[in-house]
Amino acid sequence: MIDFHCHLDLYPNARQLIDEVAARNRFTLVVTTSPRAWLKTSKVFAGYDRIKVALGLHPEIAAQKSSELDLLISCVSRAGFIGEVGLDGSAQHRHSRKLQESIFKAVLMECEQCGGKILSVHSRNAAGWVLDYIQQYCRDNIPVLHWFSGTIKETRRAVAMGCWFSIGPAMLRGAKGKRILEELPREKVLPETDGPFARNGSLPYMPWEATTIVKHLAVAWNMTDANADEQLNLNLMKLLSSTGLSI
Ligand SMILES: [Zn+2]
Repeated sequence: MIDFHCHLDLYPNARQLIDEVAARNRFTLVVTTSPRAWLKTSKVFAGYDRIKVALGLHPEIAAQKSSELDLLISCVSRAGFIGEVGLDGSAQHRHSRKLQESIFKAVLMECEQCGGKILSVHSRNAAGWVLDYIQQYCRDNIPVLHWFSGTIKETRRAVAMGCWFSIGPAMLRGAKGKRILEELPREKVLPETDGPFARNGSLPYMPWEATTIVKHLAVAWNMTDANADEQLNLNLMKLLSSTGLSI
């Protein structure tokens, strides 16, 4: 299976989990919440070819981590993947709106400067706002909208702009997520868990449990589970090859 957005470093037993994730998953994108975490996590996960660590600064902690902006920008050129970055328009994070914008804009511009990067993008309660930035600052960048929860109109706008989408079991539990899925081109969809933040009851989703979305995709795409799974693998290969990466 693929997990294109998880916080593997934030599971309580992360170090013990690495080998199991490496064995069970074809590809895992570990997104980080700060550049310091990226530096540390990259060392811990070095040597696992199919686990990639993305450089991020989570918009929810923009205020606490704004002093790491220079570090973030200076690390972009040597990061294969960027995430988690983006904007959060939830009431409790509105106070950092300006700061979130300046960080997101700076990272998008630096990625463009480096020839374009694959970015795992957070857009909770900020879909239109994020799309405005993507429209302005993504020419060679490839944004993958993680757990997108905008309106149908915003979903269509994101699709028209060529965005990718990573979707997980938690997103597909609700009617809204299922409805969004109907709008997405199947060749732009990747699986994610967003674990350990996304939970299945009292337990966090594990990075190999993104597989549970396959049955939903098979129904939405009118194909067998095996073909839906194969489509996801093809999508990943296409995305990685577009920036010269492979696994
Ligand atoms: Zn996340």
